[in-house]
Amino acid sequence: MSLDEVRLRPSALPDIVREKLAAVADVRGDRATRVARSGGKSYKDLIRRRTGDAEDAPDAVVLPDSHESVRSVLEICADLGVAVVPYGGGTSVVGGVEPIRAGFEALISLDLSRMDRMTDVDAESLLATFEPGLRTPRAESLLAEHGLTLGHFPQSFEQASMGGYVATRSAGQASTGYGRIDELVQAIKVATPAGDLVLGRPPASAAGPDLRQLMVGSEGVFGIITGMTLRVHRRPERRRYEAFIFHDFDEGIRAFRRLAQEKATADVCRLSDEDETRASLTMSGTSPIAATYLRLRGYGKGCLAIMGWEGKPGDVARRRRATVAVLKQEGALGLGAKPGAAWERNRYSGPYLRDDLLDHGVLVDTLETAAPWSRIRTVHTTVADALRVALRDPGGSPGPFVMCHVSHLYETGGSLYYTFMAKAERGREVDQWEAAKVAASDAIVAAGATITHHHAVGSEHAAWMQAEVGDLGLDVLRAVKTRLDPAGILNPGKLVLP
Ligand SMILES: Cc1cc2nc3c(=O)[nH]c(=O)nc-3n(C[C@H](O)[C@H](O)[C@H](O)COP(=O)(O)OP(=O)(O)OC[C@H]3O[C@@H](n4cnc5c(N)ncnc54)[C@H](O)[C@@H]3O)c2cc1C
Repeated sequence: MSLDEVRLRPSALPDIVREKLAAVADVRGDRATRVARSGGKSYKDLIRRRTGDAEDAPDAVVLPDSHESVRSVLEICADLGVAVVPYGGGTSVVGGVEPIRAGFEALISLDLSRMDRMTDVDAESLLATFEPGLRTPRAESLLAEHGLTLGHFPQSFEQASMGGYVATRSAGQASTGYGRIDELVQAIKVATPAGDLVLGRPPASAAGPDLRQLMVGSEGVFGIITGMTLRVHRRPERRRYEAFIFHDFDEGIRAFRRLAQEKATADVCRLSDEDETRASLTMSGTSPIAATYLRLRGYGKGCLAIMGWEGKPGDVARRRRATVAVLKQEGALGLGAKPGAAWERNRYSGPYLRDDLLDHGVLVDTLETAAPWSRIRTVHTTVADALRVALRDPGGSPGPFVMCHVSHLYETGGSLYYTFMAKAERGREVDQWEAAKVAASDAIVAAGATITHHHAVGSEHAAWMQAEVGDLGLDVLRAVKTRLDPAGILNPGKLVLP
């Protein structure tokens, strides 16, 4: 659809506010910029974009270039009652950057892309400080000059921002080895309408509760993260990725639990269930000979695992031996380095398939949770079943197809990441998706699992926060919000509903 056809309301930002904002930051109000900031990358966002619906687009896009500029924007917006939606890379898949007005007449998108510097690096202490708008590929190349890496490789690596990672408690593909972003945050600077918070004294502190962690995962609802000091790692000299196959998912889960509990994990540990394995092998064009070989060895309906080790050559070899010993004891068959290297090469390309599938009238989305080892199989099945029932087409069209993998290991449990597809009901895409999302989220909560392991809450999971933290927990979060953002201008409709 051409930009001219997109439905967009005239900007509701009063001229006086625009002038005040323009004195402290760059302000854009052109059609293309407003439309581009009208949503993120959730299924709902994509459908809205494809049907030309940008009715709720921000009234202006404001681009600050410093912490002080952010502070001034917040002061103006709090004074004049303008809602502010922080925007990092815009890759939220849970409605995190949805422009929800919640009673405010005007709303701006606070685009942090101008704040994109690495402001400090302390290679001796393995610490680096970043502005929030820096994208990961650039951060990695800046760190590489010092022989360092962040080790944070979510599938949105190409577009997501450092501030977005911290604001959503993101986890990367190698987080089993390098740690989730919340484990990497050493210090954080936040601008709020009530003032600045500068938190965290590396390497550790016992000075009361950890307020840093109140800001990590706060999704722009408490304040704007304008700087962060993260733990970084020495760049690995060697990377080795390999594939294995298990007889079934139970066997794989047993092996992965042992890896985590016996401290024998690889940096990347990923186990596909039977359906995801079938899809991967089909899409990678596995030859009939290889398929027959696997069937004859008893792995015909098996589950694929990708393992990746990174570090010094000696360490990689030692750690690989420990991992492989457990995998083999539990029944895995090694498939060698070729499929592992292919996975590494294509690790960021999978999501682009979503656009092709949408072109072909397929509803496709992902969701995720995590569960303790003792309950992970039950959660795996009940959530998949809930999706299958909700997406079943009474007209008898093929599908739905639901597949899942485990990708982050802890001693106590693992994450579950689902991809689901069905024939899209034209004109009813969002209702159809919503029914599936509600069914899966209810099943997750009923099974006692978390509503999100790494995608965050945004607007799409907010209704399940009560189940996650209870009424008192919600009240505590609301009290923090009231203290830091008394006018309630920051990212309305996300994380904590009023
Ligand atoms: C293809 C694809 C793959 C993905 N893979 C992963 C994955 O592997 N792991 C994972 O964890 N997530 C993944 N995600 C989800 C998403 O990329 C992450 O949540 C990411 O952390 C968001 O970063 P961003 O910069 O794009 O944030 P945005 O989408 O811009 O914002 C996310 C939320 O944080 C707020 N926010 C952004 N910047 C700031 C700031 N500086 N201060 C305060 N609030 C802020 C926003 O208002 C919003 O609520 C994926 C998404 C896509 C589209």
